[in-house]
Amino acid sequence: MAATPSQKETPNSTPPATGPTLLTYLLLIGVIVLFTIYKADIAPRKTTSWLEVEKDMLPKKAIAKIEVINNEEADIYIKEAFADTPPFNEEMKPGKSKAVMPGPQYTLTIGSVETFERKLEEAQKGTPLDQQIDVVYVKRENWLSKILVWLFPLLLFLLFWRYLLRAGAGGAGGTSIFSFGKSKAMLFDKGRKSKITFADVAGLEEASMEVKEVVDFLRSPEAFTKLGAKIPKGVILVGPPGTGKTLLAKAMAGEAQVPFFSMSGSEFVEMFVGVGASRVRDLFKQAKDKAPCIIFIDEIDSIGQSRGMNTIYSGSNDERESTLNQLLTEMDGFETNSGVIVLAATNRADLLDPALLRPGRFDRHIYLELPNIREREEIFKVHLRPLKTDDTLDVAFLAAQTPGFSGADIANVCNEAALIAARRKRESINRQDFMDALDRIVAGLERKSRIIAPEEKKIIAYHEAGHALVSWLLKHVDPLIKVSIIPRGKALGAAWYLPEERQLKSATAFTEHLSAMLAGRAAEEITFGEITSGALDDLEKATKEAYMMVAYYGFDKKIGNISFYDSTGQQDTRLSKPYSEETGKMIDAEVIKLLNEAYLKAKELLSRHQEQLIKLAELLLQKEVVFKEDLEAILGKRLTPARETPVAGVL
Ligand code: ADP
Repeated sequence: MAATPSQKETPNSTPPATGPTLLTYLLLIGVIVLFTIYKADIAPRKTTSWLEVEKDMLPKKAIAKIEVINNEEADIYIKEAFADTPPFNEEMKPGKSKAVMPGPQYTLTIGSVETFERKLEEAQKGTPLDQQIDVVYVKRENWLSKILVWLFPLLLFLLFWRYLLRAGAGGAGGTSIFSFGKSKAMLFDKGRKSKITFADVAGLEEASMEVKEVVDFLRSPEAFTKLGAKIPKGVILVGPPGTGKTLLAKAMAGEAQVPFFSMSGSEFVEMFVGVGASRVRDLFKQAKDKAPCIIFIDEIDSIGQSRGMNTIYSGSNDERESTLNQLLTEMDGFETNSGVIVLAATNRADLLDPALLRPGRFDRHIYLELPNIREREEIFKVHLRPLKTDDTLDVAFLAAQTPGFSGADIANVCNEAALIAARRKRESINRQDFMDALDRIVAGLERKSRIIAPEEKKIIAYHEAGHALVSWLLKHVDPLIKVSIIPRGKALGAAWYLPEERQLKSATAFTEHLSAMLAGRAAEEITFGEITSGALDDLEKATKEAYMMVAYYGFDKKIGNISFYDSTGQQDTRLSKPYSEETGKMIDAEVIKLLNEAYLKAKELLSRHQEQLIKLAELLLQKEVVFKEDLEAILGKRLTPARETPVAGVL
């Protein structure tokens, strides 16, 4: 999917209030009022020290009263008679003639009550009791700080709550905790269109037609309904990865004159229970508000998987199931002609719940396949459009080189070729850049720097020569194009084949292919009398193919015309095999027999042509890459005329 910013618009969400609310004003006023009262309650006092008290106030007998507050500070009251005398008048109110009455005018922080009392007592020694200063002890509560302690958390909480509410109103795609249940669908509407059009989709004519028809249903439903036809509710695109399902949907979003909601199946399910279902509900609600419109759900298999599957491993898959149930309910819920059509895409229709596929829900199935040679040519043309290529490039040749490639692979080849040309500092991309891009994509990156000992290089050369020779001699094996002993990706050497674009493959083609796969190891054994671990990949592929021949395609005479293949994906073969233990043993025995026979055949062929094997291997050691022409020079023309158009598929 193209990275597009997520859609924030919701049809019915009101924009959240942004200015301060009445509540905030009230709170603010409250705090100001409280503070003023508190301030008014405290008369202005001057901080003084004991020294001043002892030196100035006590000898003048100016102190009327001392109030010890909370055993911490002493408030000093000056006698009314001293209000006009300096320094009391000046200090309290500079420029004024009178100290503020009734006071307190001074405050003094006392260390402890005992020390204060002692000091006072000492200072007043000899003073008659009735003339001694009156000391009062007061306990005063600081009610403002109390109120603030109580008010502050409340205020904080209110602010937090307001923030949550406001974020919650963020709507679809909003990031607040309240928008979990909102669908994350992207909305393509009038103001916001996908840039992809049907001109960017090559091949796929039938599929494009059907998809375009869906738009027609929505735009002029009367044409269909007047004849009594029901408009389909759901259309599902099925096909291997990279065949252009998402691309088709994007093109539809680009060209449809109706709103288009796009979402991936995996976006429904989060870690919280119930979110998936609520997102489905929200998506359909939004869609109904915008009808006529299209909802596109990519990779629907992530929610639409058959219910009850894999429950043994993962416990009950409640969340996914409830999401699926909600989807089914929604699809049932809206009227046939309500103007909402659901488009979905999947690689694995076999995994989908049958309830989803039944007519009335996804009643139209559009199958996309890997492109054929003509379609590949068209796809190449689409992807070559933005590239700067030179005249050496032949699109038909490229299409012929790439059997089994999907649209995505072709897009990748084009991009890779452009990157290679840029690295080589060329002005335009030429044929060789494309050939190198193909090699790289089929077999991995060349790793010339990988150091291989000469004796190992020799083994690799014989191994690859073995593959090449046997596949050259057996006429049902795909035509060989080139062999290389330059390490690429994980492989130490590779042989390129051009698979024929056939729908059917015969049993003989399978067995001959097995021999060609095992020929690398056979060549090692014949030449060196020793086998190596280099055949691991060949063995793995050969074993899998042999099992498929016996257990799936019914090629084995002893097992017979039987297939244990399960296209519905409902069976879990890891837990229980679909055949009895005896049959299982028989299958194993037959597979071993098949592989042994194929290996012997390869060995026999190589022994007969050992001279050519040596020639080819030596040539490989010398040149590192050997082409069809070199093979012809050593081995003569191949039995089946190899087509002129080469590459793809590696052994
Ligand atoms: P999927 O079938 O897995 O959804 P996509 O639609 O995502 O595949 O295809 C991936 C890319 O492959 C596209 O973005 C496009 O560049 C290219 N592609 C696939 N099919 C076609 C096609 N028919 N025409 C042009 N480009 C294609």
